[in-house]
Amino acid sequence: MSKTLQRVRGTQDLLPEISRKFRYIENLAWEESRHYGYGEIDTPLFEMSEVFHRTLGETSDMVHKETYTFQDRGGDFITLRPEGTAGIARAFISEGLAQNLPLKFFYSGPMFRYERPQKGRYRQFHQIGIESLGYDNPLSDVEVISLASDFLKKLALMNSCKLQINTIGDTDSRAHYRQQLVNYFTKYKHELSADSQIRLEKNPLRILDSKDAGDRKLIVDCPKMEASLNEESKRFFDRVQQGLNQNNIAFELSSTLVRGIDYYTHTVFEFVTEKLGAQGTVLAGGRYDGLIQTMGGPQTPGVGWAAGLERLAELTNESLMPRTKLKAALIPADEAGELWALTVAQDLRSRGYTTEIIWNGNVGKKMKKAASLGAEYALIVGTTEAQNKNITVKNLQTGEQITASLGLELQ
Ligand code: ATP
Ligand code: MG
Repeated sequence: MSKTLQRVRGTQDLLPEISRKFRYIENLAWEESRHYGYGEIDTPLFEMSEVFHRTLGETSDMVHKETYTFQDRGGDFITLRPEGTAGIARAFISEGLAQNLPLKFFYSGPMFRYERPQKGRYRQFHQIGIESLGYDNPLSDVEVISLASDFLKKLALMNSCKLQINTIGDTDSRAHYRQQLVNYFTKYKHELSADSQIRLEKNPLRILDSKDAGDRKLIVDCPKMEASLNEESKRFFDRVQQGLNQNNIAFELSSTLVRGIDYYTHTVFEFVTEKLGAQGTVLAGGRYDGLIQTMGGPQTPGVGWAAGLERLAELTNESLMPRTKLKAALIPADEAGELWALTVAQDLRSRGYTTEIIWNGNVGKKMKKAASLGAEYALIVGTTEAQNKNITVKNLQTGEQITASLGLELQ
């Protein structure tokens, strides 16, 4: 096959079986979010490049190495969204939503990152997520985490997922910690990976997020955030933990957990699993009180999370999902029957029965097809049925056959 007829590396054709699973998971997340008072938001798949470059941080892997950026025909630099939060913050500012705070948004859709494709890692992938804007109360972080936990429970994943939390403190605590990390890692500068040497200059906290094995060894003994937290940051994090206990949500403290993006403050969290190998983060989020201001909007606190649908689908058991059963298969026996079949099918569908017309083959072939589709009833219609305006109904489980008229009830 010529290369141009193949999928672009790292993209997927989501065929009906997997789409059905995606839709199921997405619906569960949306329902759960609605229960918490969220509304849905859908922002563009692409934004002016600055929306991501300014906010996510030039040194984050996501911006530095992973964005799809191009110049459009008008000369503007455009970036396909690598994540959802920055676009929502942009919408919050450009739609003038500050008057409406607090605001709670749910979103779902494709994201784009130029990564090395591997299992569980794509270049076009899908995320669902939520953002809660306008609350600086640490217990609102707990609500956001509770929503994640309730959703994962509905997917029966809470047995295989653990919640890890950490704090990266407020701006002052972070600045202090940054200095501690610079002091420590500078001593080992030449042992750090090339990427982490750059991080050391530009954003040393990001070293903690490194996946390089050599870096990880050095990270084990690095200074811990806890020692750099001021009173306010400690109080905030204590309150988050109190709230999680109040809601009976089990968690582990993870002192090296930092998110891959620059805009986070205070709480960061991840639901992780051991079932997906290296790609173990199922759902991840945190607080981002500085983001909207960094983008030129009013100072607005925010907290949220995102989860990859591909990884959720990989973990989700098929047996949870309800199947739509085919109630009736229409079997036209001849041309007059074909026309009558249209009417019968429309009548059944309008009354909520899942109905398919089988067009190909002779009656025998059509009956076989009906059985292989799992139809409960075969409705045979030919010239006689069309003239008498009735239907020959065969129960495919019992083999029982009756003649019925339009408006028939199927058990
Ligand atoms: P990782 O450390 O695995 O690269 P990340 O920090 O880049 O993750 P986030 O930006 O926080 O991840 O995205 C949240 C979730 O989105 C991840 O936990 C994962 O489920 C999913 N995700 C991220 N990148 C990809 C990808 N390239 N393909 C599929 N899912 C992804
Ligand atoms: Mg990543």
